[in-house]
Amino acid sequence: MPVSGRDYPGTWEQFLDWFPDEASCRAYLEQLRWPQGFVCPRCGERSDAYRVSRARLMCQHCRYQCTATAGTIFDKTRTSLRSWFAAVWYIVNQKQGVTALGLQRVLGIGSYQTAWMMLHRLRRAMVRPGRERLCGVVEVDEAFVGRSAANKGRVGKSAKRRADQINARRPIVAIAVEIKEPKGFGRIRLRHIPDTSELSLLPFVQDSIEPGSLVRTDGSWAYRSLTENGYRRDKVVMVGADDPAHVSMPGVHRVAALLKRWLLGTHQGSVRPHQIDAYLDEFTFRFNRRTSRSRGLLFYRLMEQAVVTEPLTYEQLIAGSKHKKSAKVELNG
Ligand SMILES: [Zn+2]
Repeated sequence: MPVSGRDYPGTWEQFLDWFPDEASCRAYLEQLRWPQGFVCPRCGERSDAYRVSRARLMCQHCRYQCTATAGTIFDKTRTSLRSWFAAVWYIVNQKQGVTALGLQRVLGIGSYQTAWMMLHRLRRAMVRPGRERLCGVVEVDEAFVGRSAANKGRVGKSAKRRADQINARRPIVAIAVEIKEPKGFGRIRLRHIPDTSELSLLPFVQDSIEPGSLVRTDGSWAYRSLTENGYRRDKVVMVGADDPAHVSMPGVHRVAALLKRWLLGTHQGSVRPHQIDAYLDEFTFRFNRRTSRSRGLLFYRLMEQAVVTEPLTYEQLIAGSKHKKSAKVELNG
């Protein structure tokens, strides 16, 4: 278990002491990335690397040169490591989510685009690559996170059709929640899915939950092959259509409500569809560490993940959004 004051700063005061300049930040990243000593990313040999320059290390075996930031989210960025570190500290200390504008203001970053880029890379780092799957008893369900267009007062056919169209465009999120005995919730996994078919939901279950777990779902056809795929299934029959989910599926019900409120609170209810994955990553990171009293430990965890997460370039982020150039989706409770 990492220790405050040894592995990470415990307070803002300590943070300032630990990271007065680029060199101290770089040394910290090298320690995080190679805790047992330098391992060459090319030949895989463990050795004491030569220091070629302040940032560059050279492998003794194959003479490959690299830096602690190469291939991580800090790669090829003109932003100082101190700013990156401060951004991480700021993010883990916010109870609510963080916006690019908020980050830009707090850190005094020159451009909005830079702050936006940093935030996106950090959100990617919030989901640890190769993390373990949920296990035990796990509830799975889907939730719409968009504002529902209630057909208030009007009964006209076109009004109804319009409401249906708006509702159909709302993002759907698959939710998996570990259920603790006798009560309480464990970890969660979330995924933005295009529809509620088996094609969308089965891969989500397989990626998120250990086979052998007891998976609690509603009666949907989409879950019919869970048993064939190594899961035990507990089918919850909903009696009465009006949202009995808080009784029969308290975990997913609770998480869906928190997620909607969080999206509304942080992003003022306005979210572009291509950004939702990043928001779900951030929400998952925060939820799964909600009981952590130590903000410093959260800083450590995010930094640890940041040095093993590959960077996304601005072009990649933009390209991801091009084919989904639809209008903003309004998110509401
Ligand atoms: Zn090498």
